Amino acid sequence: MITRTIHNALGAVCPTLLVLACGCLYASAPNDAVIKNAGNFDWLTAAPFAPTFEVLDTESSLGPYASDTKTITLKDLVNMHGHPCDGLVTAACGLSVGLKILYPDGVIDRTDTGCVTNNSPCFGDIAAYLTGGRIRFGTQKIDPGLGNEFIVHRFSTREAVKVSLKPGIFPEEVLRLERAIRAGDFTIEDMRHCQELQWKYARELMQRPASESFDVKRMPTFEWTPDVYEHQGKRGDIVNKNILRETTQGTAP
Ligand SMILES: [Zn+2]
Repeated sequence: MITRTIHNALGAVCPTLLVLACGCLYASAPNDAVIKNAGNFDWLTAAPFAPTFEVLDTESSLGPYASDTKTITLKDLVNMHGHPCDGLVTAACGLSVGLKILYPDGVIDRTDTGCVTNNSPCFGDIAAYLTGGRIRFGTQKIDPGLGNEFIVHRFSTREAVKVSLKPGIFPEEVLRLERAIRAGDFTIEDMRHCQELQWKYARELMQRPASESFDVKRMPTFEWTPDVYEHQGKRGDIVNKNILRETTQGTAP
């Protein structure tokens, strides 16, 4: 790995020099290239079947349900996640299929939804953002055994759906390169080549309806058991989410 080799060499010669060198790099950032590319994700949202999401939340930290929904685009997901990637697009497309089953009216209730993914940074981020699930509230789970798969769960109805990318859709070449790069066996040209292939795959995935790329199955016996987390707490911003509805129905004090 080129960068690692340079750092190792510098560090071996003089750790102080390395710190100074890094300091100079940070001091000059963001550079022109970074500024030029920042926010340029038009290729994502320009795709004919780029998913968008309509979500419902509470209107404040105390509730109640907001009167309006919000629209989430792939650009919002990139801003949250930090980069556009194949994992982001795979998760967004797959989750759009599963969430459509849990919410046939098209409005995803982010106070009522849990998600399960593997521990990919991309999959977990996108699932949490779109469903409102969080590890710390026991509404997001990690299952390392999952592949390009996503489980979404609606707590109030106890429905669960599993969505899986169909075999043969994810490019073998990307898989091979990703494994080599994560193992540290690569050149910067390999990394750039893999990025291009990842984005090409992502663009192609959005040239057709997501429902054509994913298998879907309901999970009638699914039971939600939160992952163990030391600081798990109660989500205070949704405990009174129904207050206006109850008032309207005459059940609230
Ligand atoms: Zn990513």
